[in-house]
Amino acid sequence: MSGQDRISASVAVKEGQAVCAACGHDLGPATKPWKDHAQRREIPLAQAGGQAYDTGHEGVLLRHFYCPGCAALLDTETAMAGDPALDDILAERG
Ligand SMILES: [Zn+2]
Repeated sequence: MSGQDRISASVAVKEGQAVCAACGHDLGPATKPWKDHAQRREIPLAQAGGQAYDTGHEGVLLRHFYCPGCAALLDTETAMAGDPALDDILAERG
């Protein structure tokens, strides 16, 4: 796509906005964390993929961030329950 810089396999910057690379859904200004504009799903890490992912600690989550427009999986991260999302700024702050 022209006029769009791919930042990852799933998120791009177009005209200063973070967008879903698959459908172009607006994920907010590129200078702000785009994850606030995504659909979030959290599951205990121990349920993510079997025993290999069981840390033995309660409250460790696997977060999925989905595009609200096309439901593409945009990113994942592990976090403790209640922690803010990892700041994922795609452009220099203005
Ligand atoms: Zn999308």
